Amino acid sequence: MRSLRTNLLNPISSQKTDLLPDHVITWDNGIITSVEPYNPALHRDCEDHRNAICSPGFIDIHVHLSQFRIRGNYRPALLPWLQEVVFPEEARSSDFSYARQLAQDFFSALLKAGTTTAVIYTAPFRKATEIAFEIAHRLGFRALIGMTLMDRNSPSDLLQSTAGAYETSLDLFDTWHGKSPLLDYIFTPRFAPTCSPELMRLIGDFASSRSAWIQTHLAENPDELRWVREIFGLESYTAVYEKFGLLGPHSILAHAIHLSDDEIRLMADSDSRIAHCPDSNFYLKSGEFPLSRLKAAGLKIALGSDVGAGSSLSMPHHAQMMNYRQSLEPVLPEEAFYNMTLGAARALDLGSVTGSLQPGKSADLILLKSPDHSPIDEHSLSRLVFYGSEYTVSETVIAGKSVKN
Ligand SMILES: [Zn+2]
Repeated sequence: MRSLRTNLLNPISSQKTDLLPDHVITWDNGIITSVEPYNPALHRDCEDHRNAICSPGFIDIHVHLSQFRIRGNYRPALLPWLQEVVFPEEARSSDFSYARQLAQDFFSALLKAGTTTAVIYTAPFRKATEIAFEIAHRLGFRALIGMTLMDRNSPSDLLQSTAGAYETSLDLFDTWHGKSPLLDYIFTPRFAPTCSPELMRLIGDFASSRSAWIQTHLAENPDELRWVREIFGLESYTAVYEKFGLLGPHSILAHAIHLSDDEIRLMADSDSRIAHCPDSNFYLKSGEFPLSRLKAAGLKIALGSDVGAGSSLSMPHHAQMMNYRQSLEPVLPEEAFYNMTLGAARALDLGSVTGSLQPGKSADLILLKSPDHSPIDEHSLSRLVFYGSEYTVSETVIAGKSVKN
């Protein structure tokens, strides 16, 4: 059991975050048991962290482990970035010692950034995916992890056979689904241009029969849209995924920028989840996320770093970008914070498990120190959202276990 005397930022909704100065948060066996105002008569043995802010651990719902080392290797658009930077780098993960070091560095950096839950794409190799699971398991990290699938229009050193891609995914699913309270497998077709209709159909059918998670990319860049149209004809990009069973309440679609109203309706009707990656979208000049249209449709949206096209694993950086990358709509700090904490947990159907500091939930939390010793006051949340990437994460706790001091 641990009890911390500290200052809590606790998200309640996309409009409301509670600031709880000088409170005590206690957890036992990994579960938060109480959050209450400090009382000297009751809290004699608590640890003193009054100089810190305690936040729920951050949640990154779209990140590529295999691209961690190519951040900043610039190309001015999605398709050249993939062909000239991403694909050669992902091929290096066929060397397992490379994949192991990369995964160790990646998870270590996530913990240093205060991320306690992530939804992860690995390179298109079984062993690299197994290594990612092994390291996440050893650290006690909470994650959905998937082997990226590409069985056509791909370089030969990444190209998988349709049957091999499918069967390996099933093996990985069987190995990890329901086996750990913190980890699960997520089927990971990279995007429609590099996945055959057969593969998408197999994945869609299996995932819907087992309520398995799926992640892919959607409507990021105009050249990508043209490519999809060349391959699939006049159907919309979203209709392609719908046709093969890849939409649904366990599907996470990243980017979702260039969409018609009909496509937004398809996503909303299927209750698909959206990973919004504002940093990446402007790095690759993909376009501006249609935030107000997607919110009006009732879609569940959460933030993704999209490292390596995103430049940072720091989720406060992406919360800041969520505001900056809307040219007209001012995204308030409460909403940006929600989208990397409780809102993200809800998008992953983990709202009763993590994402806020509430008794009964897992103790997934971090201690943050501001670089300027700013006071704990009504602006604490806003500061964290607008320059939180400068804050020091002094401790990261997942399921009650300190994983970084
Ligand atoms: Zn991505």
